Amino acid sequence: MKKLFLIKYGEIAIKGKNRYLFEDALLRNIRKSIQDIGSFKLVKEQGRIIVEPRDDNYDEEEVKERLTRVFGIVGICPVIKVDSLDFEEIQKNVLLYMQETYQDQKLTFKVEARRSNKSYPLNSPEIAREVGAYLLEHMPTLSVDVHHPQVRVWIELRNSVYIYSKVIPGLGGMPVGTNGKAMLLLSGGIDSPVAGWMIAKRGVKLEGVYFHSHPYTSDRAKEKVIELGRKLAVYTGEFTLHVVPFTTIQMEIYEKCPHVQLTIIMRRIMMRIAEEIAKKQKAFGLITGESIGQVASQTIQSLSVTNAVCTLPVFRPLIGFDKQEIITIAEKIDTYETSILPYEDCCTIFVAKHPQTKPKLENIEQSEKLLEQMDVMIKEAIEKTEVIRVS
Ligand code: ATP
Ligand code: MG
Repeated sequence: MKKLFLIKYGEIAIKGKNRYLFEDALLRNIRKSIQDIGSFKLVKEQGRIIVEPRDDNYDEEEVKERLTRVFGIVGICPVIKVDSLDFEEIQKNVLLYMQETYQDQKLTFKVEARRSNKSYPLNSPEIAREVGAYLLEHMPTLSVDVHHPQVRVWIELRNSVYIYSKVIPGLGGMPVGTNGKAMLLLSGGIDSPVAGWMIAKRGVKLEGVYFHSHPYTSDRAKEKVIELGRKLAVYTGEFTLHVVPFTTIQMEIYEKCPHVQLTIIMRRIMMRIAEEIAKKQKAFGLITGESIGQVASQTIQSLSVTNAVCTLPVFRPLIGFDKQEIITIAEKIDTYETSILPYEDCCTIFVAKHPQTKPKLENIEQSEKLLEQMDVMIKEAIEKTEVIRVS
């Protein structure tokens, strides 16, 4: 019995030409995700992708774990493959599979059959019925329950026959690379990595920009952000981080502008810089970890004043989430532990005690006029930006 993995993906939502793009990207991303842990042959087969190990030098658990992090996969099924379509041969193999998997266990089961080969002499219900009866006859510990079986035994008749009974849930979403690229404003906090992950889940490739205020923020703060980039790369394949030197800009704002407006002006300048880098990198949107009301700079008024400076769309996937909901995702995607490491981020040093929560655009723009050198400073910051690639 040959053991392999049958990959299920959302086949209903995608039609026509997009389907090829989706499948090809998924195939590529699956290959990338497991290429360093074995030698595998990948085949598309009528709405499924089959991952076939070329030899035994691989760890099944590791393969499963890698596949559960590939966006676009709905289910991962460890299967056995039978090359003969001969019905007796199929029955024998289902029995062998069941004996090996559920040896002597007292279980209820149901056989589910599916055939893409419509000329096969038996139709799906007939296959299910015959195989079910055969199993009952040969495995006395089994009994049938068609409504709530403990085990569903799937038989998929394609060019070969695939037999499985376990479906490991995948992440769903779309394969990264099928929906363009966006630029994530990645801080060291809990929220922004989660925001990036959610957009990547829709098939969007990510790059990140991090505003670094050396020496007010330490190298360890930067290391932490790079580490978060690595954690995201587990899902996105690779991650490019643009580290923007932000100290002179922050000092300038601090010196020239009313302190109650520091945060909002700083946020607007971050957006301007992120947008310039995004356009250069052919990214079509910005992503932030903002959520309404979480802090002073995230009141609806503040968000609207920040947004006024952007021409690209800003995606804020966490906008309606509570902190606890965000933390739950951060834990699931394994960014939480890194995010809570206690390194200061640049916003904590230059914030006023009582920042404005209802800024007015005219007033902010008025204050920004005091920043005469800002265009030059922004240009310089972009020129001095360090580009770090992680995978
Ligand atoms: P996070 O947990 O993501 O840091 P936060 O709750 O601390 O968010 P803010 O500090 O107001 O909120 O930041 C809001 C968003 O602005 C962040 O989610 C992130 O997208 C972006 N941002 C903030 N600081 C930086 C930074 N130093 N570099 C890059 N992006 C940043
Ligand atoms: Mg933060």
